[in-house]
Amino acid sequence: MRLKERVALVTGASRGIGRAIALALAQEGAHVVVNYSSSAEAAQEVVKTIESLGAKALALPFDVADFEAVTQAVRQAEEALGPIEILVNNAGITRDTLFLRMKPQDFDQVIAVNLKGVFNCCKAVLQGMLKRRYGRIINISSVIAFSGNVGQTNYAAAKAGILGFSKSLAREVASRGVTVNVVAPGFIETDMTSKIPAKIKEAVIAQIPMGRVGRPEEVAPAVVFLASEEASYITGSVIHVNGGLYM
Ligand code: NAD
Repeated sequence: MRLKERVALVTGASRGIGRAIALALAQEGAHVVVNYSSSAEAAQEVVKTIESLGAKALALPFDVADFEAVTQAVRQAEEALGPIEILVNNAGITRDTLFLRMKPQDFDQVIAVNLKGVFNCCKAVLQGMLKRRYGRIINISSVIAFSGNVGQTNYAAAKAGILGFSKSLAREVASRGVTVNVVAPGFIETDMTSKIPAKIKEAVIAQIPMGRVGRPEEVAPAVVFLASEEASYITGSVIHVNGGLYM
């Protein structure tokens, strides 16, 4: 129980990687705020599973891209479960298309959710963390931030933006007990990647030294580690979880 009685907020925790992170944090004793955008039923299932592990949980719908909504929701979450000590910025979307076909709104939406959403959630929790001189912020980037990818100029820009953002914030708050780190998953089997055509998927798998895609449960332990006491001297770092796809 490395996170006993700690309170965590995981954005986009109703499914996929976020769900696995929420459950893994709860397995270590953390109480979890399960944020989601639309799938209330799935979020409730995550809450029930967390409660069955003996931890507290709260499903909270809000759009991470909406600054006011985030601020309000965090206030509500802290009233219910206590001050947020662990923030996992996991919510993310794709609007893939070749650059020449990409509409300004495809770019704006991805930046708004994947990058501005990180800003919004950090804003909402950071003051409290600094006051209490304790906090763990873990931002989910992607291998695409490092390698780039055809059809993902918007996504790569947002995910690379997370790297610069995290390192800068890490420097600002390091002396006050708050760490800011990044986990960069490779190709993980979730709803997000289920839309990728089989042919492209095969081509990507051929590039992965481990010869397979990853599971959400293989990403979550890196987040739990960064949230734990064991990672107390790690900040501004990136943990790659990608089967060797990018080294
Ligand atoms: P997913 O589509 O299965 O889940 C995304 C989650 O984010 C859902 O719970 C959804 O409700 C939530 N969400 C979407 N927009 C939101 C918004 N505006 N406000 C609040 N919540 C919102 O995706 P996933 O594959 O589990 O991805 C999780 C994170 O991991 C994303 O940031 C993604 O970019 C990143 N990632 C995924 C992969 C992969 O291969 N699946 C690889 C690298 C990085």
